[in-house]
Amino acid sequence: MNIIVLGPPGAGKGTQARILVEERRMAQLSTGDMLRDARRSGSAIGRTVAEVMDRGDLVTDGIVIDIIRERLENDGSPGGYIFDGFPRTLAQADALGELLDDLGFRLDAVVEMRVNDDALVRRISARSTCAGCGEVYNDHTRPIPEDGRCERCGGTDFRRRADDNDESLRTRLMAYYKQTSPLIGYYHAKGVLRPVNGLRDIDGVANEIRLALD
Ligand code: AMP
Repeated sequence: MNIIVLGPPGAGKGTQARILVEERRMAQLSTGDMLRDARRSGSAIGRTVAEVMDRGDLVTDGIVIDIIRERLENDGSPGGYIFDGFPRTLAQADALGELLDDLGFRLDAVVEMRVNDDALVRRISARSTCAGCGEVYNDHTRPIPEDGRCERCGGTDFRRRADDNDESLRTRLMAYYKQTSPLIGYYHAKGVLRPVNGLRDIDGVANEIRLALD
């Protein structure tokens, strides 16, 4: 099964994608994570995208399409793929459609996580990530364990993302509404859109997604 997780920043796309990875042995392809890895490695791409990402704007379509193409052509995943944070523009959606066609893969569903802006701002300002494994914590709903160790990998280094600040968040939300939200109509027209209520707690959203996919 191949699916896209679509939604604004802070909707919980990454958290739900990780649950699907565990339950269905799918591979998570998060362009945000890949771009952050590229920055950490100090590669040419990483240097090109750093400023754009910190500002909260979208990276050029060609860069993310190339990264996704490279992964799809080289790393197999028998359980299929979860596209997390990709596509984010109509051009990216068209490119993904062509790539999947070329490889003989089908797009089974697009899970649209619906969350209002107040909740996004609250979630993002409380968010921290384990530097070791990328597990996401939230000061209110899922605090870092009392012993200070990540539940997943035992790591002790937790960080706030550089773009999780008020100004970048405003830019990221605007980018979502202007450039990404047209994909809701695009996938609705293809008959694959599956809206879920992203305001529920993590398990509640995971259940809605199970129902939407099975
Ligand atoms: P994310 O982790 O998905 O919130 O992505 C963090 C940042 O990486 C975004 O604000 C963009 O600057 C960049 N980015 C991630 N995925 C894409 C994409 N599909 N298209 C353009 N820019 C992206």
